[in-house]
Amino acid sequence: MDTVKKENNPVYSHKDPTPVNMTDEQWKKILSKDVYDVARMKGTERPGSSPYEHSKEIGTFYCAVCGNPLFRSDTKFESGCGWPSFYEPISKGSIIYAADHSYGMDRTEVMCGRCKSHLGHVFKDGPPPTGLRYCINGVVLDFGSGVQGDEGKIPPFTRDV
Ligand SMILES: [Zn+2]
Repeated sequence: MDTVKKENNPVYSHKDPTPVNMTDEQWKKILSKDVYDVARMKGTERPGSSPYEHSKEIGTFYCAVCGNPLFRSDTKFESGCGWPSFYEPISKGSIIYAADHSYGMDRTEVMCGRCKSHLGHVFKDGPPPTGLRYCINGVVLDFGSGVQGDEGKIPPFTRDV
């Protein structure tokens, strides 16, 4: 069990696009261990462990580290891969990409466009219209229900993983 206290996170915002640059030491003080390990140490959560994997709720998925909007629920699909999967990010700038050759594999890492936190990887075996599968660690996602642009305030943090 792990809970992130948003009140302790001075950069968390759904509206502020200003890039966030903090050191790992600073992040360590703000983030829970689970989030820190994935977001800053490029870890991977256990497959099947995220309640978001099979969530069908309508809303927006945000970066759990900085609040940046990342994916809309209507681009989410059941990939069966064990992690929440999306075929398209919310906007071009919401995600940044990097070649990842770790573990002897050729993969494309996806990171938050605002705080550069590790989110997961993107693969080319997704459904139309993009053919892409953004395979994302649920622990670095925050979900806000409701129509996009209608969220207003930061939703109460409800993750309990
Ligand atoms: Zn972020």
